[in-house]
Amino acid sequence: MYFYKDSFVEKTDRMISPDDRGYYFGDGIYEVFRIYHGKVYEQEAHLVRLVRSAKDVRIELPYSLEQIREIITTLVKKSRISEGTLYMQITRGEAPRAHSFPQNGKPVMTAYCTDVPRPTDAMDNGIRAISQDDIRWLRCDLKTLNLLPNVLSKQAAVDHGVQEVVLHRGGIVTECSASNLMMVKNQILHTHPANHLILHGITRMVVLRLAHALKLEVREEPFTLEDLYQADEAFITGTTVEITPLVEIDNKPIGSGIPGTITKQLQQQFERTFSK
Ligand code: PLP
Repeated sequence: MYFYKDSFVEKTDRMISPDDRGYYFGDGIYEVFRIYHGKVYEQEAHLVRLVRSAKDVRIELPYSLEQIREIITTLVKKSRISEGTLYMQITRGEAPRAHSFPQNGKPVMTAYCTDVPRPTDAMDNGIRAISQDDIRWLRCDLKTLNLLPNVLSKQAAVDHGVQEVVLHRGGIVTECSASNLMMVKNQILHTHPANHLILHGITRMVVLRLAHALKLEVREEPFTLEDLYQADEAFITGTTVEITPLVEIDNKPIGSGIPGTITKQLQQQFERTFSK
């Protein structure tokens, strides 16, 4: 079951216009929501971010927030998904190809749910990464469809036989190709500040809340790749990856090369935020 252009349809019933600006320019925004036990996790935080992305790229949301909440509820119910994700994207609409905004374009929303199990193996054992230059634009805080640099990074990870890419600008670690990054050094949790250079992850926000509750010292300050090499622990955060330990970077083990104690503590606390 899909929501596409004002109605609920079967996947095969969709006719997407080649004139959709999402195709021509990646001219759109999106959100990925997590579903646990048939309920949408941190829905309001995702909606706040959606509204902000829309405002900053000057796309008028095609529906009110109340209507969007109803679309989400209906999709989750009709899809009968207990554990999965809900993908939602809004493009600037359909119009003959021209860079400037169309005069009478109506934004187009697409949304659907998918069964996505929790990545328990990666969460238990950790993942490996390589580092790469962060070649993205300077508004990484907006969740837009322009993901070509992220796509290239993720493929570089696959080509290297690892699971993620740690991005850095001139040696300052920003985030990963599809997740935020945190590291622990001397019991202090470090992560890049939530500015224009990273996506303000919802999972990142929840983890920082949990870290404060655990009375962990947190530093939202830039740190270098060299610092990450010397870290005691590191992990990535994201809607689908939750808190996944990063145990190796650029062929070097992080800490003792296994998921760290603070990482595990945060994983346990995180799980409690959606457990029944
Ligand atoms: N950073 C990037 C580049 C992402 O694509 C994502 C998620 O897709 C995140 C961070 C994590 O954000 P969230 O926790 O809201 O899923």
